[in-house]
Amino acid sequence: MRSLVISDIHSNLAALQAVLADAPSFDEVWCLGDVVGYGPDPNECTETVKELSPRCVAGNHDWAAINKLDISDFNPDAMRACLWTRERLSAANWQFLADLGECLIEQGFTIVHGSPRYPIWEYISHPYSAEQNFSYFSTPYCLVGHTHVPLMFRQQTGTQDVEVVVPSIGEPIVLTEGRWIINPGSVGQPRDGDPRASYMLLDIEACTVEYRRVPYDIEVTQRKMKECGLPYRLAMRLTFGW
Ligand code: ZN
Repeated sequence: MRSLVISDIHSNLAALQAVLADAPSFDEVWCLGDVVGYGPDPNECTETVKELSPRCVAGNHDWAAINKLDISDFNPDAMRACLWTRERLSAANWQFLADLGECLIEQGFTIVHGSPRYPIWEYISHPYSAEQNFSYFSTPYCLVGHTHVPLMFRQQTGTQDVEVVVPSIGEPIVLTEGRWIINPGSVGQPRDGDPRASYMLLDIEACTVEYRRVPYDIEVTQRKMKECGLPYRLAMRLTFGW
């Protein structure tokens, strides 16, 4: 079975559509949250995810958009985009986001947005935070998003040590022994210096992941953001993948 793993779409429909057009055949879609926030297409992205998959967890921006999370420590741009999103979400899409759980377990994979310890908020961007999180899930593998940076952490059997594995693009990586925390990167707002949409394919039987990047029409999203009055800085960062 092959799963398409997507995360941090952030209301960027052009990026999501490019991923769906680029992805080779898959059986299921697993979504790691932050369907909305920042971008111009919250309803369209939520509806697309709803149609694609019942396997989606909540991200901090999803909860923020439906007023389930205090946004007082969001930066000013994120807060503006959040309030804009909140006013525009349809009732059905609001309910879809409200119904998302914090954690799913599928075929040996724990699925969360941030981390298994604090699914909504914690960032796993460093081996130290990864190391602390390995005891918070019991499956061999954990999928996380939230940092918008494609990255893998491996803990070898019989040790606490964690190694960082920077994934190469377009070739299957075998999940060899040990336990893994795996981040597919972001569809709609990459932050690793590569503006292309990032996603991952998982082959459960072969026990491999394949990281993929696909260019999309960034200007389409930026033009919509301008028309919507969304913050300039949020639009500009898409050009640079930052
Ligand atoms: Zn995010």
